[in-house]
Amino acid sequence: MTGQSALIEMNDIVKYYKMAGEKMTVLHNVSLTVNHGDFLAIVGPSGSGKSTLMNIIGCLDVPNEGSYKLDGMEIRGQSDNRLTEMRNKKIGFIFQGYHLLPRLTALENCELPLIYRGLSAKERRARAMEALERVGLGERVGHRQNELSGGQQQRVAIARALATNPPLLLADEPTGALDSKTGMEVLGMMEELNRAGQTIVLITHDMEVAQRASRSVIIRDGVLSEQKRRDGHEDYAGPHNGGQERLIE
Ligand code: ADP
Ligand code: MG
Repeated sequence: MTGQSALIEMNDIVKYYKMAGEKMTVLHNVSLTVNHGDFLAIVGPSGSGKSTLMNIIGCLDVPNEGSYKLDGMEIRGQSDNRLTEMRNKKIGFIFQGYHLLPRLTALENCELPLIYRGLSAKERRARAMEALERVGLGERVGHRQNELSGGQQQRVAIARALATNPPLLLADEPTGALDSKTGMEVLGMMEELNRAGQTIVLITHDMEVAQRASRSVIIRDGVLSEQKRRDGHEDYAGPHNGGQERLIE
């Protein structure tokens, strides 16, 4: 056994949609491995297949061909119930819009994913509290959405995703609604979570955002490729572009 083990193992994933009898292939033989402890960015322009891939990684959709193992379990061919179970057990989602419930406090929002787990109210509260502390919001637990800044709202959403201790944090354009300084703060926090061991997959169209991950892959027209850095490491060539072409669309 090697030091690292795979949390995500995709081999030759194909996804197509049928439109008016025509088969439109959106993901072409995508293969991807994400190990426990990785912080991977998937970067690509609009329409390249990011959301389609994210839906498959997140067990919201299944591929037409190929194999996807999440934490050792093959996802293809599973029942909807089993997919839901995998999703709830294995993945914490973060989206561009934070999707907080406005009438609930930060703490109550973070308790939501714990409600169906048979935990006592006391245990739920303790876990939600701990998650909010991890994102530096221990002092804001009683605040509601309208009493929090955009960056704080996104941090609550991250805490909510972390409350169940999911092996994978899956983020779709998590900084998309934030100004760039606040976005970078949120990314800094994700880096910190990763340093503490959290596996993260971050999906973005923004190169500058992707550079904050420890590894990135690019997707174009449904084809995934590793980026090689000039020093030979597999990474984004971003630091050399001087901030121009920040967006790859
Ligand atoms: P991205 O998130 O990178 O913008 P998407 O994964 O949303 O890209 O879309 C990739 C391609 O698949 C696009 O051409 C889009 O029009 C198409 N597509 C996405 N979802 C569907 C669907 N449900 N039915 C048909 N085509 C779709
Ligand atoms: Mg998308």
